[in-house]
Amino acid sequence: MPDSQPQPSDGATADTSALLLCGARLTDGRTVDVRLGGGRIEAVGTAGSLTPHCARVDLNGYLLLPAPAEPHAHGDTALTGDSPGPVSYAPEDVQRRATEAALLQLGHGATALRSHVRIGDVQGLGPLEAVLQARRSLRGLVDLTAVAVPRRLTGLAGADGLAMLRDAVKMGAGVVGGCPDADPDPTGYAETVLEVAAEHGCPVDLHTHGDDPARLARLAAMAGGLRPGVVLGPCAGLARLPHEVAARAAERLAASGVTVVCLPQGGCGGMELRGSAPVRLLRAAGVRVAAGGGALRDVSNPVGRGDPLEAAYLLASQGGLRAQEAYEAVAAGAREAMGLPEVRVEAGFPAELLAVRGERLAGVLSLAYSRIVVHRGRVVARTSAVREYCDSAVAVALELPRQGRS
Ligand SMILES: [Zn+2]
Repeated sequence: MPDSQPQPSDGATADTSALLLCGARLTDGRTVDVRLGGGRIEAVGTAGSLTPHCARVDLNGYLLLPAPAEPHAHGDTALTGDSPGPVSYAPEDVQRRATEAALLQLGHGATALRSHVRIGDVQGLGPLEAVLQARRSLRGLVDLTAVAVPRRLTGLAGADGLAMLRDAVKMGAGVVGGCPDADPDPTGYAETVLEVAAEHGCPVDLHTHGDDPARLARLAAMAGGLRPGVVLGPCAGLARLPHEVAARAAERLAASGVTVVCLPQGGCGGMELRGSAPVRLLRAAGVRVAAGGGALRDVSNPVGRGDPLEAAYLLASQGGLRAQEAYEAVAAGAREAMGLPEVRVEAGFPAELLAVRGERLAGVLSLAYSRIVVHRGRVVARTSAVREYCDSAVAVALELPRQGRS
């Protein structure tokens, strides 16, 4: 990306740590300059009002937004959909794929990622170690957190699973996860996860399909009060329950304070688990809802994009949310679900930003081709799209106003 680094302005001595974003449009319609320094937003002023004694980036024609975050990725299996034969879990392969997937997601605008990684079976802790290695190599570009996803936690095999889960947390998995639905004793599984999380002060992020209201109610009751918080997802099964039943389940989720991370791109499980959680019903009940990308070109979704703006687009086009609500689900909502500090385009907030070519949020969700991503006050990725029409198309376009006048 030879043109991605900002050029220092002429004249005064450049402050190498600071960066001035010039002429950016905000969602409230203002056009502003934004000065970044020390990883934070230092100042926001009307365009031209801030002295450019530092590197600058021209954001004329771009809408500047708090950066999205990816609350539900699968770094250990990402980018395996095209490869023939069984998926390789050799540490070097997992690390390469997890790194490549994280960079793709960063290019889309997600400056923080939460990646679920399976532990146990023959692979043991190898894939987790590889994802943690990717996390270290990506430092400064994108913040990556690993969720340890144990297989069995009950019965005879459960003891091994529990020991491995504790080791995973000691190794650096920042979040305790898992799939209670897949254990013969879902309640026992969830209890164990919550216990380990409480022991280590970790957040919890559990997979559930959400199509069993009694199980979901037990999960909500257990999760209530656990700090620093419990996330459930993708809960697509809720959409298949009768409306009244789903609404009651949503009320219980709201009362327990859990966050539901839905995956509008279709989920991360098998075909029978496809679909998306009923976001409007959940929001109406007062449930905190965020959205993520889920599977990124693995067997669950060979065409997965891992693009937060696509998730927001689907929440708006399929889920019936307004553009602002849809974007909040992949940005503020996702950051909150991940326990990250709030971002606003105001002085004092973290400089985690996404500039997208366009004027308004709805247009940006419709056609988000060109993007500039800022992490910790630095431009870390830039995507530029150029569209050119053939000469006759240009001639037709030039004729349009004339025909309109006649
Ligand atoms: Zn998943």
